[in-house]
Amino acid sequence: MANVAFIGLGNMGGPMATNLVKASHNVVVFDLAQVACDQLASAGASIAATAAEAVVGADYVISMLPAGKHVAGTYLGDTGLLAKLDIATTVLDCSTIDAATARTVGEAAATMNIGFMDAPVSGGVAAAAAGTLAFMCGGSAETFKKAEIILKDMGKNIFHAGPAGSGQVAKGCNNMLLAIQMIGTCEALEMGARNGLVPKVLSDIMLASSGRNWSLEVYNPYPGVMEAAPASHDYQPGFMVDLMVKDLGLAMEIAEQSGVKNVMGQLAQSLYMEYQSAGNGQQDFSGILQKLQD
Ligand code: NAD
Repeated sequence: MANVAFIGLGNMGGPMATNLVKASHNVVVFDLAQVACDQLASAGASIAATAAEAVVGADYVISMLPAGKHVAGTYLGDTGLLAKLDIATTVLDCSTIDAATARTVGEAAATMNIGFMDAPVSGGVAAAAAGTLAFMCGGSAETFKKAEIILKDMGKNIFHAGPAGSGQVAKGCNNMLLAIQMIGTCEALEMGARNGLVPKVLSDIMLASSGRNWSLEVYNPYPGVMEAAPASHDYQPGFMVDLMVKDLGLAMEIAEQSGVKNVMGQLAQSLYMEYQSAGNGQQDFSGILQKLQD
């Protein structure tokens, strides 16, 4: 059992913190929204009045916040949490943020001898609730060993990607590839359907051929092919277009900062941004099929 401070109890952080309570850890929570704290209190966590109060005596500090500015504001500067932590504390930021901020926080933690990892997740709200998230971690090997102990109570696959910032880079690479694959899968299925092929039959052919990919295998974007997929439920998410656009923006930042010419990634970003601007931000990202059908 560990003492865990958990900061940011939204759609993802709420169920993740709940799983730590279920795993018998002593969890102290903080969120700017009182209602989010109250929900965790009814699950068995203690509520702190501030983030600084939550981290007193913590073995682990875990954060699940919206963006880089929230993470920098929480940890850095004279009033930030790093300045208040004991060197025995391990800090795990599970938010999806820009790699540059993750590196900055990692470097600041290193100068104070505090173990820090960026540990963004793959898997949405359902995986957070089921405790089956994948974690992509960036930090030292020593911190990763400590991180694994607690992350296994919230996830199934835990990877050490490299030094600080590497978790965010891995997530950017993965989600850019996912967007490209999803659009390609939609184009192939639509082309087949317009030429008289039944989408389920074409899907089976491609699944047994070299076009096989994750979108086709477990998340078919064509309505009616896969009963459990969002496509068969009016594209209710699932993984929202708004979040895909956010993640593609972060991936483009990584590409630009490292001088990578990612033509397909940029095209995927502009298609998803157009689809979002047409009022589809809250739809599942596989709904991009509808854009191709228009
Ligand atoms: P959310 O908006 O539901 O929750 C964010 C929470 O952080 C809110 O409760 C908010 O009150 C709290 N918060 C904001 N600033 C704070 C601060 N300074 N101190 C304390 N609390 C603060 O977001 P979410 O869907 O839970 O996503 C969290 C992170 O996980 C994001 O970076 C997102 O990109 C990533 N993510 C989300 C999903 C998903 O399916 N929702 C999947 C993978 C990754």
